[in-house]
Amino acid sequence: MQVLKFGGSSVANAKNINSVVSIIQQAKKDDDKSVVILSALGGITDALLEAVTLASKGNISYKEKLHLIEHRHLNTVKELIPLDQQSSVLSMVKKRSNEIEDTCNGVFLLRELSLRTKDSIISYGELLSTQIFAAKLKSIGIINTWKDARELIVTNSEYGNATVDFATTNKNIIDFFSTVDTEICIVPGFIGSDKNGNTTTLGRGGSDYTAAIIGAAVSASVIEIWTDVSGMMTADPRLVSNAKIIQHISYQEAMELSHFGAKVIYPPTIQPVMNKGIPVCIKNTFAPSDPGTWIRNDIKVDGNTIRGISSINNLALISLEGSGMVGIPGFSKRLFEALSNEKINVILITQSSSEHSICVGIGEANADMAKEVIDEAFAYEIETKKVEPLVVEKGLAIIALVGDNMKNHPGISGKMFGVLGRNGVNVRAIAQGSSERNISAVIALADVQKAINVLHEEFFETTYKQVNLFISGTGNVGSKLLAQLQQQQQHLQDHLRLQVRVAGISNSRNMVFNDEGLDLSKWNELLKNSEPMNMQEFTGAILKKNLRNSVFIDVTANADIAKLYPQFLQKSISVVACNKIASSSSFEYYKNLKDLAREFNALYLFETNVGAGLPVIGTLNDLLRSGDKVNRIEAVLSGTLNFVFNNYTGEKSFAKVVRLAQKEGYTEPDPRLDLNGSDVMRKILILARETGEKMEMEDISNKSFMTESCMKGDVENFYNEMEKHEAHFLKLVQVAIQEGKKLKFVASFKEGKASVGLQHIDPQHDFYHLYGKDNAVLFYTDRYTEQPLVIKGAGAGAEVTASGVFADIIRAAG
Ligand code: ADP
Ligand code: ASP
Ligand code: MG
Repeated sequence: MQVLKFGGSSVANAKNINSVVSIIQQAKKDDDKSVVILSALGGITDALLEAVTLASKGNISYKEKLHLIEHRHLNTVKELIPLDQQSSVLSMVKKRSNEIEDTCNGVFLLRELSLRTKDSIISYGELLSTQIFAAKLKSIGIINTWKDARELIVTNSEYGNATVDFATTNKNIIDFFSTVDTEICIVPGFIGSDKNGNTTTLGRGGSDYTAAIIGAAVSASVIEIWTDVSGMMTADPRLVSNAKIIQHISYQEAMELSHFGAKVIYPPTIQPVMNKGIPVCIKNTFAPSDPGTWIRNDIKVDGNTIRGISSINNLALISLEGSGMVGIPGFSKRLFEALSNEKINVILITQSSSEHSICVGIGEANADMAKEVIDEAFAYEIETKKVEPLVVEKGLAIIALVGDNMKNHPGISGKMFGVLGRNGVNVRAIAQGSSERNISAVIALADVQKAINVLHEEFFETTYKQVNLFISGTGNVGSKLLAQLQQQQQHLQDHLRLQVRVAGISNSRNMVFNDEGLDLSKWNELLKNSEPMNMQEFTGAILKKNLRNSVFIDVTANADIAKLYPQFLQKSISVVACNKIASSSSFEYYKNLKDLAREFNALYLFETNVGAGLPVIGTLNDLLRSGDKVNRIEAVLSGTLNFVFNNYTGEKSFAKVVRLAQKEGYTEPDPRLDLNGSDVMRKILILARETGEKMEMEDISNKSFMTESCMKGDVENFYNEMEKHEAHFLKLVQVAIQEGKKLKFVASFKEGKASVGLQHIDPQHDFYHLYGKDNAVLFYTDRYTEQPLVIKGAGAGAEVTASGVFADIIRAAG
């Protein structure tokens, strides 16, 4: 005998029921008898519950609900069964519907709804679906027997979640099936009856259990659970889009996964079949040829240590703490007794080895009741200050890694908590079963989706890592960066296994989001047609989205954006800044950012702050990390000034050459910051700080070559004044040319002191041959003594800066 169970979505409407019929016809070809268990039509159990609840509250609209329920069944019959055979089935539906309505009317009048009445109402879902299905089979010539499960499955009177009396039930089932002479027998799932003959139910999702109870009693050859997915998956497919089908899984693993929230199978289902070693197969009604999942003992090893990841939402942690608990036996007994007296289910337990506290995870709905009964149970100890009043924390969830093989593989929990930590998921409590088949962690409910996804990536997707970028700034550098990202997306996926998504973009006018990743071929259009920019909302959205492996990228020159970084770092969101303001503001702010990054396992990267795309900061850090000591830095750090002095010969005015630099995109958005040396000061400040120097902008001496009047007023005034002072600039170059030297704006750092200013560079010097917008940095260190370590190349320009930002992003993603 084989048992086939079809869930609510498999029998949701006539079309789906026809798919079930085909599966039954196929099964009939094996010359085994089949027991077919059905759930209610999808959504009907909930609808019945809603109707009777409305009635109990005196809300007359229950009648409408009932009307809809009745019509759904009537329509299904009309679509499924030929007209000439419909009448008896339609009158069955009407009769059952009248019974439902009679009960609901009673509830409405009394304004009272007992658990017993609830069970009696919701049992109609399965009664109706199975009777319609039996009639359908009959109408196409498949002889079958319909059997009311309430005559087979006997339970206690715990309505809503009854416990099966297996001795009586097994006997009933064996006796009954020994008399059945049809090949197909149809039984409603989910329902039973107590010894007084009242209808009971086996808990939501309980039709799976009915299949297991019957399958175990008759020693079925197989139990097939037909549903709307092609098997048990490595994680809930609604949370993890890359979840994969598990082809083989042991009973224990399946049990753990379902206990920890994998809804595809109702947890108690496994127990009866495991004892008898009956294989269970989970199959997809809508893709019947998919292999599905096999649950059985002799499973094949597939190289995965972890079989699946699951989660239970809406958990509360209750903690009993106090010095009076230490070493005294019986405390936990009293705690659990108090819970069990109220039938509060314990989901997870941890106790610190000091025995100072015991921490229990329970359903959030039970938390208030738990607090009441436990505080009462320990009233004396609380009063005498041996124990603190119970601490209740809500808004939590459990995530669990499950796998038989974990016990042979050390390091799994390290990996698990490492990846959670890197993503800013705070772990409140941890439990590992002694079987080592499961490691569970309690985390905030808001973190569940992110946590499950990063764990899934870590343990199942050696293939890809998804990185979610939020980019502020779409100017010269920002737009180049977006173009580079678009161009490299496929390459990153193929070669670095990185799935880089831009989940948000903002500029000073607009902001746009898409959790699936914005289409970078039309980001401009998307941004333009989106909501207006609001910095607080932009930040809030990034934090709330809580996407895994998030990176915030600042390609603005905006001081307010630079103030946002701490909020991101504190949530373990890495920050990549092209904007120099944060790293060159107060030392305290810079230091705080570095500390936050360390504390929250994020990266704060700003390579492009110095030398655009040139690897200056990275090289400096490599030197320091490897134990070298930097004694002196000499650098030409302004692409703009270099461009200006390389191109200024007196033919074109100085002001015109500066304008050209701005037009070419080498200058800061405000070119005065380049010309007055501030930008170079910021850069040498950042380099000095990276060597460990506690330095402020005021500590840097700047011998400015600009006339004071140029720096007053706005940018236009700046250009006008430069024109007026052309003679001043001409003199500067002429003096240098006469000496056979070139003018370079040089930054130096030595013995804790930094300075910037124009220098006359002679032809032997490394700086002499710097062309165009080049930068050069010379590091004199303990290891590079005679010849400095030289880094040289284009130090300005949107394309190279964007590629430097890109490189930081890849670093942050890795
Ligand atoms: P049925 O009505 O057939 O009993 P359920 O809705 O009870 O179906 O269970 C199937 C659903 O379980 C799937 O549609 C899927 O969304 C959900 N689910 C949750 N976790 C898992 C998992 N680990 N593997 C497969 N499905 C899962
Ligand atoms: N119809 C019941 C429910 O929705 C039982 C089941 O579908 O398994 O919970
Ligand atoms: Mg189910």
